[in-house]
Amino acid sequence: MARFSLFSGDTSRRIAEADSVAVIGLGRFGSSLALELMAHGTEVLGIDLDEDLVQALNGRLTQVVRTDSTKEEALRQLAIDEFDRVVVAIGDDISASILTCSVLLGMGIPVIWAKAVDDRHGLILEQLGVHHVIYPEKDMGRRVAHLVRGAALDYIEVDRGYALVKASAPAVLLGKRLGDTGLRSAYGVTIAAFKRDAESWKNADADTILESGDTILVVGPTSSAENFAQLR
Ligand code: ATP
Repeated sequence: MARFSLFSGDTSRRIAEADSVAVIGLGRFGSSLALELMAHGTEVLGIDLDEDLVQALNGRLTQVVRTDSTKEEALRQLAIDEFDRVVVAIGDDISASILTCSVLLGMGIPVIWAKAVDDRHGLILEQLGVHHVIYPEKDMGRRVAHLVRGAALDYIEVDRGYALVKASAPAVLLGKRLGDTGLRSAYGVTIAAFKRDAESWKNADADTILESGDTILVVGPTSSAENFAQLR
């Protein structure tokens, strides 16, 4: 049996004082986000309605509590109002997502991130005033489309129309200083970093000379960065 909920306010209050985040909804998205935060030293209070999920994450997050996040009183008992950052990772149950966000906004949480399952859901969250609305499935679909299309080894669109692409160093860059390649004027991109064999990533500058087999990080307008990643 889980041992949480009733007397967890003090613990959550302590967590809230640390570099911490509350994650509400511990499905695939919420739990992987919560575990990644923990892995990088951020304390996490996890909340879910589902007893099995709470049990499964017990001991892997700073604290895990089974509660209904649409109930303001329950959230106050957990001292959620003392957290600076809360992630609402409830998707399928749109009304639970909206109610939870509305309660959190009413509490004055400074930064709320919420997951939306579609544009309509996202629009409502934005209209409510949620600070960051994320669309994991839509964004991942777009990202994978770019990977499937081309030679990019990885791809992140930093903002609409501007991307960071991981690719193999093309022949046009090999054996000369990056500063002498005319890269920016010819292709409209910048090489931000490179990696050689088992070495770690290094920042690239005008004096960097790439070798065959190097991996590079290309930064620039999405289409330019992507076209550049196709070069052999
Ligand atoms: P994922 O894709 O991340 O697995 P999903 O899109 O299927 O999630 P949901 O199943 O709607 O999203 O919600 C994710 C989690 O949120 C579930 O584990 C669910 O139990 C939890 N959840 C839903 N409603 C509430 C609520 N009112 N209070 C607390 N947790 C909730």
